[in-house]
Amino acid sequence: MEPTKLPNFFDESIKIISFCPVCNAKYNPLEARILEEKDDAHLIHIKCRRCQSCVVALILTSNLGISSMGIVTDLTSEDVIKFKTAKVIDADDVINIHQLLESGAEILISN
Ligand SMILES: [Zn+2]
Repeated sequence: MEPTKLPNFFDESIKIISFCPVCNAKYNPLEARILEEKDDAHLIHIKCRRCQSCVVALILTSNLGISSMGIVTDLTSEDVIKFKTAKVIDADDVINIHQLLESGAEILISN
C-alpha cells in the first residue's frame, strides 16, 4: 500500500491568498515569505509585484481545513518581525512620557 502523500502545506495555503486584494494581480508564490511557523499556524508576508502593496496573512490549519486572515499593510517583512517582538506600549508608559514632557526634562531618544 502506498503511503498517502500529504499536500505541501505551503502550496495549499498560498492558494488561499493567491491574489492581491488591492489590484487583483495574481501572486507568485516565490514572492511570499514565511515569517513564523508554528505547529498549525504560518505567518506569511507577500508583496505585490504590480502595485507594491503588502499583505500579512495568518494561515491556520485544523481538522476542518485551512483558513486564513490577511491584512493589507505598508510594513515590510522585516518590520513585521520587529514589531511582533516589540514590547506593547501600555497606559503607564504613556503617562510616564506625559509627566516627563510636563517636567520639561530633556529627553534623549535612542533606538
Ligand atoms: Zn497589487
